[in-house]
Amino acid sequence: MTDCLFCKMAAGEIQPDTVLETDDVIAFRDINPQAPTHVLVIPKQHIATLNDLQPAQAELVGKMYLAAREVARIDGLDQRGYRTVMNCLEEAGQSVFHLHLHVLGGRPMQWPPG
Ligand code: C5P
Repeated sequence: MTDCLFCKMAAGEIQPDTVLETDDVIAFRDINPQAPTHVLVIPKQHIATLNDLQPAQAELVGKMYLAAREVARIDGLDQRGYRTVMNCLEEAGQSVFHLHLHVLGGRPMQWPPG
């Protein structure tokens, strides 16, 4: 999508602070971090929300989680702990309508989230 911020990042038109990139996903540091590690993992393909995910794209979500695990390893969180969050629609806090997985860690986390 031409007017999608994360599509522009995926296309290289905007350069995020990239942690890792594969053929299918990019992981980059959130511009407004909520924890010492706050990385977003996005598919390069535009999918607006979790509601728009198709069964044929299931493997892509697995690749997003494998990237999240690698981000945690890179930031030294794999043995310490980290949280992954995907917000779907406004009431859950989604503000960018291109699927993304938050990877958060580096501080104690509370539950339930606010
Ligand atoms: O789940 P939600 O849609 O709210 O997450 C979007 C995230 O994208 C926010 O954490 C926001 O800080 C991040 N963001 C970013 N770079 C931008 C715009 C938004 O990292 N240029």
